[in-house]
Amino acid sequence: MGIATINPATGETIKTFIPLTDAEVEAKLVTAERAYKQYRHLPFEQKAQWMNAAADILEQRKSEFAAMMTLEMGKTFKSAVAEVEKCALVCRFYAEKAPEFLANVPIATDADQSFVAYHPLGIILAVMPWNFPFWQVFRFLAPALMAGNVGILKHASNVPQCALAIQEIVEKAGFPEGVFQTLLIGASQVAKIVEDDRVQAATLTGSEFAGASLAANCGKQIKKTVLELGGSDPFIVLESVDLEVAATTAVTARMINNGQSCIAAKRFIVAEAIADEFEQRMAEKIKALQVGDPMDPQTDIGPLATPDILQEIDDLVKACVSQGARVVAGGQRLSDLPGNFYAPTLLADLPPGCPGYTEEFFGPVALLFRVKGIDEAIALANSTCFGLGASAWTNNAAERDRFIKELEAGAVFINGLVKSDPRLPFGGIKRSGYGRELSIQGIHEFVNVKTVWIK
Ligand code: NDP
Repeated sequence: MGIATINPATGETIKTFIPLTDAEVEAKLVTAERAYKQYRHLPFEQKAQWMNAAADILEQRKSEFAAMMTLEMGKTFKSAVAEVEKCALVCRFYAEKAPEFLANVPIATDADQSFVAYHPLGIILAVMPWNFPFWQVFRFLAPALMAGNVGILKHASNVPQCALAIQEIVEKAGFPEGVFQTLLIGASQVAKIVEDDRVQAATLTGSEFAGASLAANCGKQIKKTVLELGGSDPFIVLESVDLEVAATTAVTARMINNGQSCIAAKRFIVAEAIADEFEQRMAEKIKALQVGDPMDPQTDIGPLATPDILQEIDDLVKACVSQGARVVAGGQRLSDLPGNFYAPTLLADLPPGCPGYTEEFFGPVALLFRVKGIDEAIALANSTCFGLGASAWTNNAAERDRFIKELEAGAVFINGLVKSDPRLPFGGIKRSGYGRELSIQGIHEFVNVKTVWIK
């Protein structure tokens, strides 16, 4: 696929872009290197002033940026506005917290003075996906830039206008030229950038395939990576909870971003005694969702981002149904609409061995599993290769403690949906990736943790 804006609600190609040539990429790296030499020495107060100015721009122009996201990847306009607001929040968070997170840590040793210092690394490459076109980038750039690094962005090929807008925001906020640059390039151009000695580290959010490819290239160059990949997050419901609250949250957790979120709940693992009622409540709520024009404030579910994503979800559902899964709601493409629309779907009675047990469903499809009790629930939850987030619902303290200890995931949320928050670290285990974003752990990923010893 070339670099282009294609409206997923209509299939119309709005604008195409020519990828940068090798010479143009080289010029960007020269600019980044030059910027880093000056930028790394600037005080926190200066960087924070620019970061807060970026937040101001995001807030002032949130409708414009939200409409751009909706046009390029189909999320509802109302959710896009919330995404822009969250980007402003992460900018303000790191503007305030970076001095504390990166302060020297004194440690008593045989030296007169010894401490840990956190120094920048240099140029960091971010390879980012289309599903949260602003948020994924800002949660990288806010800590990276506050730490004194400079960033280069290879954004997904279907969100080029968002990618360019983010560079413009950073520049308008006052950051010096070259501190953050968008490179309009295809995936095949990434390996060469990774090989470049001026690039110190890389982060990627996206598919396992892309993550493994980037990490392999970085490994050859002994370069640090952070990977935030897929998930097939469990949402476990046991008998003691309010089923209406749990079912409402379950549908929200699954359908967020038209079902295209790594931390969306995907497998609903429900105790047998309450499963019929839970299924019925979920089905009612899923059937009530409004699918259509993502710009319409009444719309709950817009189109999937690309025809490939639509095809993939359709294939996965068909494979489950052909092996015996029961369609409780939805279960097909919405071919009467021109874009990449798929009906919000609930599948139950999934036969062991079908893709529902192993694959990530990146679309509005909920998978319902029945279990006898907590042992089976935890075993099923942990049975995938992923380990991003887990949501577990119980009002029993012993069950809660078991979920916290035994669920194999980077995050466990009890009686709530998994969400990211600048104050809390975010990331996965197993094939969901490694490293953490956000919070103090996120800003420590791309720094030189320097030991200083003075006699
Ligand atoms: P990709 O992983 O292909 O895309 C994510 C980013 O990686 C894009 O910028 C892409 O560029 C780039 N990329 C792709 N291949 C390589 C490579 N070999 N080396 C370096 N960079 C690469 O995601 P897709 O959009 O194709 O979505 C496929 C699946 O990925 C989804 O179904 C979902 O399972 C998962 N995904 C997970 C996300 C998450 O939030 N964890 C987000 C998006 C997808 P380009 O666009 O030019 O190909």
